[in-house]
Amino acid sequence: MLTNAPRGTKDLLPQQAYKWHFVEGKFKALCDRYGFKEIRTPMFEHTELFQRGVGDTTDIVQKEMYTFEDHGHRSITLKPEGTSPVVRSFVEHKQYAESQPTKYYYVTPCFRYEKPQSGRLREFHQFGIEIFGTDSMLADAEVICLARDFLDELGIGQVELRINSVGCPECRAKHRQALKEFLKPHFDDLCEDCKDRYERNPMRIIDCKKENCRKIAAGAPMMLDYLCDDCRKAYEDLKKDLTSFGIEYTEDPTIVRGLDYYTKTAFEFVTTQIGAQGTVCGGGRYDNLIEEIGGPHVPGVGFGLGIERLLLLMENAGIEIEEPAGPDAAVIVHGDTAKAHGLWLVRDLRRKGFRVELDDLERNIKGQFKFANRIGARLAVVIGENERERGGVTVKNRESGEQQEVPFQDIPAFLSK
Ligand code: ATP
Ligand code: MG
Repeated sequence: MLTNAPRGTKDLLPQQAYKWHFVEGKFKALCDRYGFKEIRTPMFEHTELFQRGVGDTTDIVQKEMYTFEDHGHRSITLKPEGTSPVVRSFVEHKQYAESQPTKYYYVTPCFRYEKPQSGRLREFHQFGIEIFGTDSMLADAEVICLARDFLDELGIGQVELRINSVGCPECRAKHRQALKEFLKPHFDDLCEDCKDRYERNPMRIIDCKKENCRKIAAGAPMMLDYLCDDCRKAYEDLKKDLTSFGIEYTEDPTIVRGLDYYTKTAFEFVTTQIGAQGTVCGGGRYDNLIEEIGGPHVPGVGFGLGIERLLLLMENAGIEIEEPAGPDAAVIVHGDTAKAHGLWLVRDLRRKGFRVELDDLERNIKGQFKFANRIGARLAVVIGENERERGGVTVKNRESGEQQEVPFQDIPAFLSK
């Protein structure tokens, strides 16, 4: 117990961390190219934010949140998703009063009490972006374009983009009515979750992953057939902009997204290669969320992309992320005076930007050479009494076995070669 991480959580060991650094670096660089700025919000928020923001009727709020009372008797919730906190911050700091749009990106852990399985954890991580302050479909197209570029750049271009429109509260109400009527005779055959969804969120039944519910929902009325003129035009605009960007998409009327706040655009990047947990990235437009949370009427659009699923997908696709190279040098010392010189040298080289290591176990010469091998140092820089007296070091190239004496003051230049 004591030595097991809680169910659904994972340690990130150094053997894996470089992969995270790699995808994070790619994501941040891409966001920068698109003009998105980083935002960081707290790990926890007032529970009410998610009840309002994500929506009381969603699976997340009903079943999946990590909620507790703190010592001040406030109800606190670990963030289950990234968008609501960013909206809260945007409103709190009156960023809507600045010139718009506002373009944020974030990298954040999220917490959901779910049944852990491959690609589904209780603590997971997301990349996300949001654009606030424009209802133009160009923003939706840009958000989708960034996700596409990111997946392409990582070499997993085969992940498919699926788009849909979930309409606005007005046209959705009509669809909801029709959907409930259609599902009514099948009610008893729905899974327990969907029976639950029937009243509070019937649209969610359309994307239930259970075989039987899928069969039932196959003939259900689709939102696309109920769009009002405004939502219809928006959807057409989006498709036009995507085509202009050169982005391929599939229209998929079953994409409804799990959060209540979506309006108009809903999209997912989906793959069949990592089993049932095939949605790598999901997002859409949420024109009423900012108002719902207590801000002015400001529209928004964004996505969340699961980092664990992304890495799983890359692994399954056989995409290797190169392991970082070993250090430039291991400095090997022999004797007390040589050690003093060695420490001075190591610090000097590190301050000049070289990656240099010492054997902190202070083994004998043979042990220190083994250490240099283990850490994959490019060069072994040996300082013994003899070298020191001659004012230099012996540098051995571990790969070629070549070795030569280098005067002390020439070491940085030699390492640069
Ligand atoms: P799903 O339908 O798979 O439960 P979701 O609709 O709940 O996904 P979102 O809330 O849209 O997911 O979150 C965005 C992304 O975060 C997902 O596309 C997925 O990549 C990732 N994600 C969501 N839940 C988890 C989880 N429990 N573990 C790992 N990644 C997750
Ligand atoms: Mg979910």
